[in-house]
Amino acid sequence: SFGSTPPVRSSTIVKSPYPDLDLTTKPLAEDVMKDWARFGNHMALVDGTTGQSYTYSQLKDAVIRCASALARLGFKKGDTLALYSPNVPDYATVFIATAALGGTVTCANPMYTPEELGNQLKRSNTKILVTHEMVAGHARDALAMAPNVKETIVFGNVSGFRPFTSILEDDGHAFPENVDINTKEDVLAQPYSSGTTGLPKGVMLSHYNITSNIAQLNNENVMNYEGPEEVLTGLLPFFHIYGQVVVMLTGLKTGSKIVTLPKFQLEYYLETIQNHRATILHAVPPIIIALAKSPLVDNYDLSSVRNLVTGAAPCTEAIASQCVERLKLNRFQQAYGLTETSPVTHCNPPVGYKLGSIGFALPNTEFKVIDLENGADLGPMEEGELLVRGPQVMLGYHDNPEATANTIKDGWLHTGDIGYRDQDDHMWISDRVKELIKYKGFQVPPAELEGLILAHPAVQDVAVIGIPDDIAGELPRAYVVRKPNMDVKGEEIDAFLDEHIAPYKKLRGGIEFIDEIPKTASGKILRRLLKEQALKGR
Ligand code: AMP
Repeated sequence: SFGSTPPVRSSTIVKSPYPDLDLTTKPLAEDVMKDWARFGNHMALVDGTTGQSYTYSQLKDAVIRCASALARLGFKKGDTLALYSPNVPDYATVFIATAALGGTVTCANPMYTPEELGNQLKRSNTKILVTHEMVAGHARDALAMAPNVKETIVFGNVSGFRPFTSILEDDGHAFPENVDINTKEDVLAQPYSSGTTGLPKGVMLSHYNITSNIAQLNNENVMNYEGPEEVLTGLLPFFHIYGQVVVMLTGLKTGSKIVTLPKFQLEYYLETIQNHRATILHAVPPIIIALAKSPLVDNYDLSSVRNLVTGAAPCTEAIASQCVERLKLNRFQQAYGLTETSPVTHCNPPVGYKLGSIGFALPNTEFKVIDLENGADLGPMEEGELLVRGPQVMLGYHDNPEATANTIKDGWLHTGDIGYRDQDDHMWISDRVKELIKYKGFQVPPAELEGLILAHPAVQDVAVIGIPDDIAGELPRAYVVRKPNMDVKGEEIDAFLDEHIAPYKKLRGGIEFIDEIPKTASGKILRRLLKEQALKGR
C-alpha cells in the first residue's frame, strides 16, 4: 500500500561487497554431512549437563539409525516432524535425519504452553512429535489438540512415549538412499514467526535457503568457522533459526565441537566456556550485557574466545565496546536477520567492523532502503525500511498467500525494520515499523496477546506495544479499555494470560487502563502514538 512506486534507480540497490559464492543445490543432510568422514573422531556434540557426546562418526551412525527408525514408523518425504525440546545433542540427530528423509522439521519453543504447542502441531500438520522428559507433561496435554500427531518420541523416559534410545537401536537398514528432494521447492524447516503483522505463521524454508545461508556465513569474509579446532557453545535455543542454522547446522557442517546447554545460567555458561575452551560465542544482547557488566565474569578464564557474535535484537555500540574491552576481543560481529531469511542477511566483517552497525550484506545478498511513506528508494544516510533479496529468503508463509504477498514483493523481502546505510555501505538498524515485540530476542506477537486479552469478559478493547528496556530490549505492555460498568484489575488479566502463554510473553511492561485505543479511520491501532505517549511518561 505504498501508492505509486517511482522507477527503481539501480544505484540504490546495494550489492554485497563480496564476490558471489557458487551455492550448492544438494539437499541439506548431504551438504552438512559431506566432510564428516574426514572429521571422524573429532568431537561433534557434547551435552554440557550430562557429558553425553558424539564424535562425527558416531553422529553419522546415529543419524542413519534415526532416519531408518523414522522411516519404519511410516515417516516419509513431505511429512512433518516437530521438535519440542531444550538443546541436547540428539536435537541435531533428529533434525538431520528428518532432512535426509525429505521431511519438514517444525521446531517449537520448549517454554510453550500446551495450547501454544498444540496450535503449532495442528497448523503444521505434524505427524511425529519428538520431545524431552523435562517438558513431556506439556507435550502430552498438547496432543489432545492435535489428533494428526501419530507418534511421540521422547529424549529420556516417559511412560506412553517411545524412548529415543529405542530409535537408536534401529539397525539402519531402512535408511532410504535415494529420496528425490527438490532442494529449491521442498520445505526443510518450518519455524514460526509473526512477520510484520498478526499471528505466528509457518515460515517455509527450503533446503536451498538453509544450505545457502550456511555457505554465506561460513566463508572468510563473514564468520569463517575454522573446522575441528572450533568450539561453540550451543546455548542459543536450537528451535530458533539463529541457534538452529548459525550454531547447530553451520557448526556441524564445518567440523566444530558444539557444547549444548539447555538454558542460560551465567555461572554455568562461564564455566562451560572456560572448561571447554570455547572459541566462538554466539549470543544475544542480554548475554552481551551480562558479559560486559557482571562481576562474575572476572572469576573465569575466557581467553579462548576469539570471536563474539550477537544477533536477534539490537546491540548498542556502548555495550559492544564494553564487552570487547573486558574480554579483550579482537573480533565482535553483530549479525542481523530474520526467521524469514534463514536467518542472516547482514554481518559485520571480521576486520574493519563498526560497533553498533550490522555491517555488510552477506555474499549473494542485495538490499535497499525505501521511504516509509511512498516506497521510494533512498540513498546513503537516509532512514527507511530495509528490503533484502537473496537465496536465503523464504519460499513464503505456509497456507497464507496473502501474508506472503504482503511480505515478498518483486523478490524483495520487506523486513519491517528501519535503518540506513552509511557512506561505506555498512547498514545500521534504528527502529522497527512492524508490530513485533522482542523480549530478550524472543518474538512476542502483540496480535496474539491482544486476541487472548479480548477474550476476557470485562475487556472492551486492547492494544499491546513494546516499551524499551535496557536489558531485555523491550517489555510487552497492554493498554486495556474496560467494558462499561465492568471492573477488572491488572493482576486478573495477568493471571488470565498465564494459562495461555509462555512466561517470556508476560506483560512485564505493565497494564494500563485507558478510555479508548487510538486508531486510524480504518481501525488500525496507532501503535506509534501509544509508544510516543509511553515514552513521554504518560
Ligand atoms: P526473528 O525472526 O525472531 O529472528 O526476529 C527477526 C527480527 O529481530 C528482525 O526483523 C529485527 O527486528 C530483529 N533483529 C534481529 N537481529 C537484529 C540486529 N542485529 N539488530 C536489530 N534488530 C535485530
